[in-house]
Amino acid sequence: MYSRLLDQAHAAFCAPSATVRMLVLALVSLGILGGTWLVYFSGGAQFATLHIMYLPIILSALVFGAAGGLVAGVVSGLLLGPFMPLDVLDGEAQQLVNWLLRAAFFCLIGGIVGIGASALRRQLNRLDWLTEHDPSTGLLNQAGFARLQRQAIECKLVPPERVLVVAQIKNMLDIQNTFGARFTEKLLQQVYARARRIVPANLAIGLIQRDRLAVAFDAIAEARALRAKIEASIRSPYQVDEVPVYVDFAFGAATFPAHGRTFDELLQKSKIAMHAAATRNLPFVLYDTHADASSRETLELLGMISTALANKEFAVWHQAKLRLATGRIAGTEALLRWRHPTRGFIPPGAFIPQAEKTPLIDDLTKWVIGAALTDQAAWRARGHSFGVAINLSVHNLHERSLLKTLHETVTQHSIAPQQVELEVTESAVMDDFDYCVDLMRRLRDLGYRVSIDDFGTGHSSLAYLKKLPVSALKIDQAFVRGLASDQTDQKIVRTVLELARSLNLESVAEGVEDETTLALLKEWGCDYAQGYAVHRPAPFDELLAWLDKPPLNSAA
Ligand code: C2E
Ligand code: CA
Ligand code: CA
Repeated sequence: MYSRLLDQAHAAFCAPSATVRMLVLALVSLGILGGTWLVYFSGGAQFATLHIMYLPIILSALVFGAAGGLVAGVVSGLLLGPFMPLDVLDGEAQQLVNWLLRAAFFCLIGGIVGIGASALRRQLNRLDWLTEHDPSTGLLNQAGFARLQRQAIECKLVPPERVLVVAQIKNMLDIQNTFGARFTEKLLQQVYARARRIVPANLAIGLIQRDRLAVAFDAIAEARALRAKIEASIRSPYQVDEVPVYVDFAFGAATFPAHGRTFDELLQKSKIAMHAAATRNLPFVLYDTHADASSRETLELLGMISTALANKEFAVWHQAKLRLATGRIAGTEALLRWRHPTRGFIPPGAFIPQAEKTPLIDDLTKWVIGAALTDQAAWRARGHSFGVAINLSVHNLHERSLLKTLHETVTQHSIAPQQVELEVTESAVMDDFDYCVDLMRRLRDLGYRVSIDDFGTGHSSLAYLKKLPVSALKIDQAFVRGLASDQTDQKIVRTVLELARSLNLESVAEGVEDETTLALLKEWGCDYAQGYAVHRPAPFDELLAWLDKPPLNSAA
């Protein structure tokens, strides 16, 4: 309540409306007339009435500035002059000089208060402006842009459709790291200036973050019309300190009312679209409700992982791998399964790819290591000697404590490291090749087997491949599933098998779904096959029951 009153007073002082000015004018006039009347009827002797004259002068100066103060001073001085006592005690009449001096004194008061008030008002106005603008560019900041858009949207002055476009400079961090902060600041000034030239003057540009600009269009067509101009502008580089710089942008957009009915919702949705454009390397993405629902779902799942670990909702299932030359089981691959109490079975594809970008994957993998190695020890105790394969992701490779946990668990269960295979995807290896080679060498020296998972999808070159200290290549199921009928897949798989042989690596085909594929792989000399035609992933007990069934048995 109190702060609202203060706000209103501040507004009235900084930007007095016409009504306030009229009111003050009336008060000033009343003050001068009233003061004159008081001085006249009181014989001019009253101390209080003398000082009352300052009120209209100060009031006028506060609202109208120095000019207002001077006018009120002159009027008060001239009108009151004849009635001003020279001597307070005997009420002696004013002399002309005294009259003029009074008028000058009133003017001085009015002028000084007016100048002070104007300076203060300018300062307060600047502070006000700063809350909604970026000082170096004069563009609206997020608060200012939001207020403007809220007014347009929430006051219902909106056309049937409105589009909010947010643009992010994708390579700003690179530029800053390479050229430094001063250079980046100069570049940003050029970017903002160019944006201001491209966007029509009647549309506000919001500098919502240092590397993000936002513009609201009245219609999609208006935004589309600008697209060619924007694309041409992006292609032309910037010149800073005689260095040409290419600035890369990602654009995201959301529309009113389809994607949001408030400005905050629209901004959130267009940022989501912009983020999608940046991660998918696309120039422009329009917000997609379905894609967002799935990423919301994924975020929720990520949020539930820690609790799920504590509540023992995870399990490890095993998928057997067949040695084609002998027809015997050579090992299993441990695959994570999540059974949620209310959501039921959650497939690994719904949470592992996202978890792999966070440290959560380390917790999950540690858990898988514990469960998989416990199972291996248990089936070894029942006379089965084959090993187990565990999937590792990039994050895992950089987590020292995880590899320590692996080695401790292997020792704890008295498992020979040769019985443990670590599957690392080809793309993970290519992400940080030198580091991976070094790590794989250390793992191999400790006795572990390392294989390249999903081979054929990660763009590794032969030059890299020959340096990799691995034992096997797992041909991605994309080339294996349709093998029986697809000639191209057949050529690819035969080439990879040849490649593995010439590099002295073992070969594994995953995703083997039919007998024909199994027979072809055997004929071409593939070492191992894994897939539904051999065995579907199953919990420990089912794996053991399946192993006991003829004709399969468990010799490695
Ligand atoms: P992946 O490592 O390539 O695992 C093989 C996937 O193919 C498994 O799916 C398996 O059930 C499925 N599969 C096996 N044979 C066939 C077949 O004949 N046909 C078809 N259509 N599919 C087959 P799953 O268990 O759903 O796992 C999917 C992916 O999730 C895995 O692909 C792996 O990348 C990841 N994943 C699973 N468990 C773990 C884990 O413990 N750690 C990590 N980092 N990733 C895991
Ligand atoms: Ca795998
Ligand atoms: Ca795979």
